[in-house]
Amino acid sequence: MAKQYVYNFKEAYGLGKELLGGKGAGLAEMTHIGVPIPQGFTITTDACTLYYKSGKKLPDYLINDIYNAVAVIEKETGKNFGGAHNPLLVSVRSGARISMPGMMDTILNLGLNDVTVAALAKETGNERFAFDSYRRFILMFTNIAKGIKRDEMDAMLEDIKKKKGYKLDTEVTTEELKELVKKYKDYYLKKFKEEFPVDPKVQLIEAVTAVFRSWDNDRANSYRQMNNIPYEWGTAVNVQSMAFGNKGEKSGTGVAFSRSPSTGENKVFAEYLPNAQGEDVVAGIRTPLHIEELQKRMPKVYEQFIKTIKMMEAHYKDMQDMEFTVEDEKLYFLQTRNGKRTAAAALKIACDLLDEGLITEEEAVLRVEPKSLDSLLHPTFDPSELKKLKEDAKGLPASPGAATGKIAFDAKEAKERHAKGEKVVLVRAETSPEDIDGMVAAEGILTKRGGMTSHAAVVARGMGKCCVAGCGDAVIDEEKRIVIINGKTLTDKDVISIDGSTGLVYIGNIKKVDAELSGYFARIMKLADKYRRLHVRTNADTPRDAQVAAKFGAEGIGLCRTEHMFFNPDRIFHMRKMILSETVEGREAALEELLPYQRDDFYGLYMAMNGMNVNVRLLDPPLHEFLPQEADKIQELAKALNMTEEHVRERIDYLHEFNPMMGHRGCRLDVSYPEIGRMQARAIIEAALKAQKDLKKPLTPEIMIPLTLDVKEFLYVKEIICEEADKLIKASGEKLNYKVGTMIEIPRAALLAGEIGKEAAFFSFGTNDLTQMTYGFSRDDAGKFLPDYYAKKIFEQDPFQTVDQKGVGKLIKMAVTDGRAANSELHVGVCGEHGGDPLSIEFFNNAGLDYVSCSPFRVPVARLAAAQAAIKAKKSK
Ligand code: ADP
Ligand code: MG
Ligand code: MG
Repeated sequence: MAKQYVYNFKEAYGLGKELLGGKGAGLAEMTHIGVPIPQGFTITTDACTLYYKSGKKLPDYLINDIYNAVAVIEKETGKNFGGAHNPLLVSVRSGARISMPGMMDTILNLGLNDVTVAALAKETGNERFAFDSYRRFILMFTNIAKGIKRDEMDAMLEDIKKKKGYKLDTEVTTEELKELVKKYKDYYLKKFKEEFPVDPKVQLIEAVTAVFRSWDNDRANSYRQMNNIPYEWGTAVNVQSMAFGNKGEKSGTGVAFSRSPSTGENKVFAEYLPNAQGEDVVAGIRTPLHIEELQKRMPKVYEQFIKTIKMMEAHYKDMQDMEFTVEDEKLYFLQTRNGKRTAAAALKIACDLLDEGLITEEEAVLRVEPKSLDSLLHPTFDPSELKKLKEDAKGLPASPGAATGKIAFDAKEAKERHAKGEKVVLVRAETSPEDIDGMVAAEGILTKRGGMTSHAAVVARGMGKCCVAGCGDAVIDEEKRIVIINGKTLTDKDVISIDGSTGLVYIGNIKKVDAELSGYFARIMKLADKYRRLHVRTNADTPRDAQVAAKFGAEGIGLCRTEHMFFNPDRIFHMRKMILSETVEGREAALEELLPYQRDDFYGLYMAMNGMNVNVRLLDPPLHEFLPQEADKIQELAKALNMTEEHVRERIDYLHEFNPMMGHRGCRLDVSYPEIGRMQARAIIEAALKAQKDLKKPLTPEIMIPLTLDVKEFLYVKEIICEEADKLIKASGEKLNYKVGTMIEIPRAALLAGEIGKEAAFFSFGTNDLTQMTYGFSRDDAGKFLPDYYAKKIFEQDPFQTVDQKGVGKLIKMAVTDGRAANSELHVGVCGEHGGDPLSIEFFNNAGLDYVSCSPFRVPVARLAAAQAAIKAKKSK
């Protein structure tokens, strides 16, 4: 039998969103449960694929199927498509699997021409309504199906209104509407050099084709790419007989939510516009009325309305977002879907539905979008204040939160002014590792250049600090220490407010409200913990970050980057001395100076984590990152090292690398300079011994070797660590277990995981490096060419945001399997940025990892995502 591409709503129930699209599946399901909806049919997503396969054409047999489906609605409604009496009019509505901006908008009243409009006028006794529908149709067809901007046609209507002094569209008379129809048709003829299509069948096929075409337009493509929606899905088309909300005062249209989408309150929230068609509500031309108006005007309809909504909500077991139309006191629903909601509403609704017995605990956990929690964790600007304001500039919402402060133009200044108790916002063209201190001190960061993965953005997210990046509107002159925003020149005396959740920038101060961690939030997190398998740790380098993470439920530190501890001004000098020394003794002397700092840092972390596991990674970045360029700093170093300035410069030049990310870094440093690893091991063990005593809890420090690529290399460094650690433990007379493991971030290490796993106590996948080394391009440069890959549909998503399951994932799975086969005790986690990404977390759960580690503010997100992954995995079994 030939494949079926077209389904009447009555026979489509249960075929699924994949085939019918979200809207089509909804219409079929509503039909099935007895919600009053206008008759119609769905042309499937497979037909969309077919359209593209057939060279962007609808094959004749498909066109035939569509005509046959129209014939069925004609029978069901007793109306005639293109008929000289009782004409059938339809809407043509696009509908992908998930609702997607960019897809073709709906065309209403299709089927009208000079013959059918006359019949409609005569049979409804309402000529005005008929011509209002007709002129809307011509406009929508021209604009939506044929892609002509609507402003000129809108202007024709406005002209009439202006001339006559009308305020509302509804005041326009029948004669004027007739005149408008003629104008629209002339306009069409002028634009296309052909008459407006009079045959409804031609209108229909053109509209259906336009929907399929819209699947591949720029807006749809960029939305898909941003939201990880595969191109292959395609869109469906729904053709549905019209319900007329514009027939008069006993008709109207509106939207309804079964509960409040902003707070979650269990009360129908709806708006209603009398004598109007759907598009009027969206267009915002007239302000809709509160739903109580419907109750006053048509109490019976209202009663049915509320009843049907409750019925639908009980059926879908979730808050519904619905469209409805009333035609001559008869109620129709046009659409229902699970309503979008704020994070706060999502939490309340999930808990309420659980208490109402509509959903299970597991379903409640699945109901909250993990990423949305982010917005609840940071203090925000008072929404009522924001409503009154207009932004002065716009950038990228790089790291959520709200920050207000006086402008600081460099890191040093930010730090100094912060130390004096001033609140500052760091404003820079872009940031670099040298700015870390200033970023810590600032309330928030605003940069002119750089995207969502720029240094400022990544570091700010890591710190849970508000950041607006890539704000091209700001003209920054770092030398003159001014920034021009919205035409105003600002100095370090001026206050700005930046909103990292929206990317908006305001001049002046805005009141803030604290993050509200309501009871619902805690309750859902508790449920998440009950159902998740993966443990969640945090990436933290300071006791403050560690404490924040612990408050959010982190179960340990999965990655402490020791290098961040060296950028502090009183330490960097010793670090530089160490790097520039030409002798082992010189290095050891400098390391000796650094030791107490490291030990104190680690001690602080152990105390903050109160007995939970802390994983410390040995020094990782290329050494030259620490070296100065400024003349005065070089002078100072030359003095301290007893070298000429010339010589210091030579050393700095010598340390320069062509490809530092693949250069002398990670455990390669320990192979060349074992004294570095030894000092760090010593700091870790001494700190742990002291913390163990003070906490009165046994600790098991984890020491992680970065960038390993061979088992012999691993063993060489491990031996240095063990030698030092064992010596110290023995001397202390205490008992202390410790573990030495490795990052898996070079493909070779993943390939040889069996050998390395035999010797390592744990693996931690450094998925940032593993991704860039597997792909062979650097994260910092990929932003320049990845957009071309998206545009050309080679890649659909950024592998640095969501782990690439196919390639990188294959390495991960292999390393887990081989590592565990060699060492059944092997503990496995991930500490790259992917550790906080819900989709990646699902993959890590299924790959059998023991834990993920992410930045402190991502911990609740990861807990929830881990629970959802476990529940989904259980379900699919
Ligand atoms: P969107 O996805 O943009 O909401 P819709 O297809 O749902 O697009 O429709 C746009 C508007 O037209 C909505 O208000 C909807 O209720 C209305 N509408 C769509 N089809 C019909 C119809 N057959 N009868 C009456 N109104 C309709
Ligand atoms: Mg809709
Ligand atoms: Mg790395």
